[in-house]
Amino acid sequence: MNVLVINCGSSSLKYQLIDSETEAVLAKGLCERIGIDGRLVYQKTGLDKEITEAAMPTHKQAIQMVLDAIVNPKTGALKSLAEVDAVGHRVVHGGEKFASSVVLTEEVLAQIEECNDLAPLHNPANLIGIRACQELMPNVPMVGVFDTAFHGTMPEDAYLYALPYELYEKDGIRKYGFHGTSHKYVSQTCAEVMGRDIKDLKIITCHLGNGASLCAVKNGVSVDTSMGFTPLAGIMMGTRSGDVDPSIIPYVMEQEGLNASEVVNALNKKSGLLGLSEKSSDMRDIIASVNEGDEQAKLAFNKYVRTITDYIAKYYVLLNGADVICFTAGVGENSIPVRKAVCENLKCLGIKIDDDKNNVMGEMAKISTDDSSSMVYVLPTDEELMIARDTLFFLHQNG
Ligand code: ADP
Repeated sequence: MNVLVINCGSSSLKYQLIDSETEAVLAKGLCERIGIDGRLVYQKTGLDKEITEAAMPTHKQAIQMVLDAIVNPKTGALKSLAEVDAVGHRVVHGGEKFASSVVLTEEVLAQIEECNDLAPLHNPANLIGIRACQELMPNVPMVGVFDTAFHGTMPEDAYLYALPYELYEKDGIRKYGFHGTSHKYVSQTCAEVMGRDIKDLKIITCHLGNGASLCAVKNGVSVDTSMGFTPLAGIMMGTRSGDVDPSIIPYVMEQEGLNASEVVNALNKKSGLLGLSEKSSDMRDIIASVNEGDEQAKLAFNKYVRTITDYIAKYYVLLNGADVICFTAGVGENSIPVRKAVCENLKCLGIKIDDDKNNVMGEMAKISTDDSSSMVYVLPTDEELMIARDTLFFLHQNG
């Protein structure tokens, strides 16, 4: 079966066509600048990337272009659209309603819409993508896969804040967690690679991309995660602050004459590695500056490593030890110095990595020494494949 995976943003859309039997990617690409001018990137596996500048005023037109490219007689991956068996859509926020992926019916779409306030930048765009696909492929079953769903198993004392309880009841103020698709994929793949049953494992997954979060996975389910009500909480990120004292917000508003959304914007876009280093949000630039002796870049690097270490330590205690720590996403998969520095900080727990084994970028590797108390792995994430797997699983479940 062929599953088309769609990740639709407000002005861009990423897609992958995956053969579910072999799990091979048949074609992939993205549409950019939707509603502005329009650019389609398409690549059939094994062929060169094609870039087409073409007007795509709406998401429906963008998806139409993707479908045309997929069945193009010369470079298409399929002969006809009848060969698309299902579509899996990434949906950022499922609120408390969706603790797993779900077949997208009208009723479900209405429920997703009710979560729009919780993710105003993402959910409306996800819904636009779903509706456009439904119009263009009315007979193809579609499944929604939520970033929040994997964390639906967190216990109350993990997801509740110590706030008036009625804020939870009335306004849904609680920790939701994000990157669930990645944490699920990485923890499952880790168990497979180890040849172990995930139900017997305690895993700490570290998704370190532009956005970054950690997750404590016990017996295959999320029991805590570092992001919160929004993806701003938790560890320090490329441009996001991670956890800060909330009283800073009104104080800065007063001192700097800013309104609440301006301060939140600074926390989201001007903080993290960028804010502390005053140079870049990209870990490659930070490390290059550190190597040139830049003290502020060194401070940003140290703080980043420290916040990751803090959360690993917290989850190590929560899980009563960890069988494995997994690093994934842009920084986790590629940054040898970040992994080394984090694991150095964990030495007192008996966690040790081998410098030669750690000398890997973007590929699966066990980097811990044989006598390390926890195993440490580098595991490339694959959110699209996880969405394709979930899409098939939930379609089959629904008969
Ligand atoms: P996103 O959250 O946008 O999906 P990614 O998982 O692709 O992010 O991660 C992007 C980040 O990965 C970049 O901002 C950069 O900091 C980091 N990165 C990529 N390659 C390297 C590398 N070789 N060394 C250090 N960091 C890297």
